[in-house]
Amino acid sequence: MNTTQTTQTRPQLETLACVNERCESYGQVGRHNLTIRKIYGKDQIRYLRCRCCGAEFSERKQTALWNTKVAEEKAVSVAEHLAEGCSLKATARLAKVHPSVVTRLNRKVGRHAEAFHDERVQGVKVVALEADERHGYAQDKSQSQWEAEVIDPMSKFVIAHVQGQRDEALIRRLLEDTAKRLAHRQQLVLFTDGEASYASLFPEIFGTAYQPSRQGGRGRFPNVRYRIPRTLAHVQIVKRREGQRVVEVALRYVHGSMRCVQRVLEQLGYTTPNTSAIERRNGTARRMNAHQVRRSLAFSRRDDTKVALGWWGLTVYNWSRPHRSLRLPLAQAYGKKSSNHALRRWRWVWLTTSGQSGIFCSLRSSCPQVRDNLMSLPNSAVCK
Ligand SMILES: [Zn+2]
Repeated sequence: MNTTQTTQTRPQLETLACVNERCESYGQVGRHNLTIRKIYGKDQIRYLRCRCCGAEFSERKQTALWNTKVAEEKAVSVAEHLAEGCSLKATARLAKVHPSVVTRLNRKVGRHAEAFHDERVQGVKVVALEADERHGYAQDKSQSQWEAEVIDPMSKFVIAHVQGQRDEALIRRLLEDTAKRLAHRQQLVLFTDGEASYASLFPEIFGTAYQPSRQGGRGRFPNVRYRIPRTLAHVQIVKRREGQRVVEVALRYVHGSMRCVQRVLEQLGYTTPNTSAIERRNGTARRMNAHQVRRSLAFSRRDDTKVALGWWGLTVYNWSRPHRSLRLPLAQAYGKKSSNHALRRWRWVWLTTSGQSGIFCSLRSSCPQVRDNLMSLPNSAVCK
């Protein structure tokens, strides 16, 4: 039996942990407490034993593939197709599995994606956030189910994702979920659209609560109010449309000072407040999710199918997809064209401390606001 082949695609034993909650090594990796008891099934799954508590369990226990009857290759293929925007039926045809397998796996990977996000996305440091909502349908074409998200425009990392009716409760869930994942919730600028709930909820969720003193010594205390620290601000970008076209963009500095907003814009490399990062994310999310495609019969029959697909797409976007507009230093020249200096407008070259040249590359966009976004530098040292 060839055991080395299976372990190549599976995590190393040292990165796994005991799943027995009563064990002293529960959930702790790198304790060298796991041994391989046997290898079973067509996929050669490792059956593990914990030396501390004696528990025996499959390496798939508590993973998205736990209890999956189809071959691992097919299950992975289903998940990949779903994240590429294939519909559930199309995925079933392409991966050659029964449609019920796709429905079940979609729900499982979605649940795991949400749990993974919840565990990993904690104490995030940001200088700015952009929030927006995407329209979609669940059950039938008359029932809207919106996806609302908050993104960090600097790293293009999506911090929060919620789904439901587009109302105050949805925006509250979105902002509260965002706030609890941040390292410093009072040192940022939030850019949103003109939705009124953002403006009304922002002080309560991000500001500092205080009790105003009552007039005289009797009667009930006034309602709690909220103070906005100097390092916190909220800007609304209100677009007026005539038909499909945006004819006017108005800026509302709703909370916080303009100086704070200006400082953050400089850090981001933007000239004006905008929501370009989340709008690009909207486009990507629509391509990655069959239930979010515009002008089609792309609704999901069940709410939870759409929620799961949303979470799965988000997790793939956050953790598995390189973002083209994030410029990364390359080890060597980038392709044949790079030898022609005349064509190098899209490359940034500077000398690093070690004397080697580092390259940031990015494509220019014709839209000035998007270009601002693309050309924003990860840190000010690069400009020197
Ligand atoms: Zn154990």
